[in-house]
Amino acid sequence: AQLPRCPFYKKIPGTKFVVDAFSYGEIQGITAYFLTHFHSDHYGGLTKNSTFPVYCNRITGNLVKSKLKVAEQYVHILPMNSEVNVDGVRVILLDANHCPGAAMLLFFLPDGQTVLHTGDFRADPSMESYPELLSCRVQTLYLDTTYCSPEYTFPTQQEAISFAANAAFELVALNPRTLVVCGSYSVGKEKVFLALAEVLGSKVCLSRDKYNTMCCLESEQIKKRITTDWKAAQVHVLPMMQLSVKKLRDHLARFSTQYDQLVAFKPTGWTFSEHVESLGDVQPQICGNISIYGIPYSEHSSFLEMKRFVQWLRPLKIIPTVNAGSWSSRKAMERCFGDWLSESKARL
Ligand SMILES: [Zn+2]
Repeated sequence: AQLPRCPFYKKIPGTKFVVDAFSYGEIQGITAYFLTHFHSDHYGGLTKNSTFPVYCNRITGNLVKSKLKVAEQYVHILPMNSEVNVDGVRVILLDANHCPGAAMLLFFLPDGQTVLHTGDFRADPSMESYPELLSCRVQTLYLDTTYCSPEYTFPTQQEAISFAANAAFELVALNPRTLVVCGSYSVGKEKVFLALAEVLGSKVCLSRDKYNTMCCLESEQIKKRITTDWKAAQVHVLPMMQLSVKKLRDHLARFSTQYDQLVAFKPTGWTFSEHVESLGDVQPQICGNISIYGIPYSEHSSFLEMKRFVQWLRPLKIIPTVNAGSWSSRKAMERCFGDWLSESKARL
């Protein structure tokens, strides 16, 4: 079968670089394939047989080598927050506030242009004091536009975490024989199960495979908390697909000597069906001794967080990297960016 062509928004003009573009085969003229973070919609196409020259930071590199078995010689590890030269172009990796290892890429092109690629990110006011961003003027912004529409509002990560931790703490206080489950699909959202474990003074148990993934993240805080001994932890991490009443009932039955009820937390992003205006409105699905909470924990910017970041950065050109496939959604986003930038210009 013929591979699809690499779309323009994955290429950095004026360089021989692409970003998160591994599913198009070898791309003509490309000398460096940057990987912003270890989520499958970004690394898709990378396999143990890949020979792309991959550029990423150490955590993402650990995952690429350990999980995908890409050969060491093809994985080029770049430092965070310090300028490096890749094929004659100066590059700096910055924390993207997404999942562990997620980086934004700041390129200083030979023609003097400065380009920021956010990868996937959750914009945060703390980024407004990144010295690397304060000391330059970004002309072109490649932007994670996952939630680029005003209906996308959700609480801060800390609010979502506190909500889950409080709910778990209260349920366990009322009945110490409560098993706490947290859903996960890939790298990311570790802060949720760590907070649950911390508030309960428990370890977190995960599958052998997930345990190995966590070891790639080089976090002492995580390493201290995790185990693969299911009996030794009151917090169990399970694949998101297993968070149904039926499957959780089966899971609880395996630990019936220790526990007689189960509460599960499903950290999801924004969901239309479960969308709630505030955390106070979050209601669990309860079925007998099984309760399931959907937690609006997002690793992407809300609409207002994205707007604030763009108005602070004031780029000349914005290229959306998510929902960018259709002409109509690209046009809607362009209109939105135009409004933001003229608004921030008016204030100057
Ligand atoms: Zn991602």
